[in-house]
Amino acid sequence: MFTYRKNIDEEKRKELETQRKASTDEMTGVYTKKATERIIDGVLCGKLQGSYSFFIIDIDNFKQANDLHGHIFGDYCIREFVERLKKFCREDDIIGRIGGDEFVVFGTISDEEGARRKAARLCQKLDTICEDSGSCWKMSVSVGIALAPQHGRSFAMLYEKADKALYQTKDKGKNGYTVYEEKE
Ligand code: GH3
Ligand code: MG
Repeated sequence: MFTYRKNIDEEKRKELETQRKASTDEMTGVYTKKATERIIDGVLCGKLQGSYSFFIIDIDNFKQANDLHGHIFGDYCIREFVERLKKFCREDDIIGRIGGDEFVVFGTISDEEGARRKAARLCQKLDTICEDSGSCWKMSVSVGIALAPQHGRSFAMLYEKADKALYQTKDKGKNGYTVYEEKE
């Protein structure tokens, strides 16, 4: 009986571990794009706890880090970036990797001004020098922001709008943030 129970527990543990691995990005430990989408859609289809911000964060000129110092150093910069991001975010923020150097942070905010303050602090935290084994690179990030529920109530809608805002940040010269605005 005891061995039987132990086997079931072991199977359950393995199943949960497989699920966890499938939903996390191997390199950084944050959620994969699919898992991020599923979790955010899950939150947005339920009863909302006020307002939420959806940040797309893209590392500026990241190709340059690889070109100048190689891919191993580039990988180090991504891990360093995620460590800083995790330290910055609240426990209940959802962090996902949605592309090579593109990440999402989704969490509750008081209002639009709160989202702006969070983005400004985030840009400041990630404006830093990455240093490893004698290589050195100045990192910064660009952020595009959409708000829920006003800009949408699904990952797809928020992604589309935050992406438009991100491109405005890039156009303005990078290392900053933009909140999506509906055109008249
Ligand atoms: P922008 O400022 O417009 O964002 O330009 P960028 O250079 O950051 O963006 P671009 O899309 O031109 O290049 C992203 C680069 O990120 C290209 C790709 O080789 C690199 N990359 C994506 N994933 C990884 C990874 O896991 N490790 C490393 N080292 N590089 C990666
Ligand atoms: Mg980039």
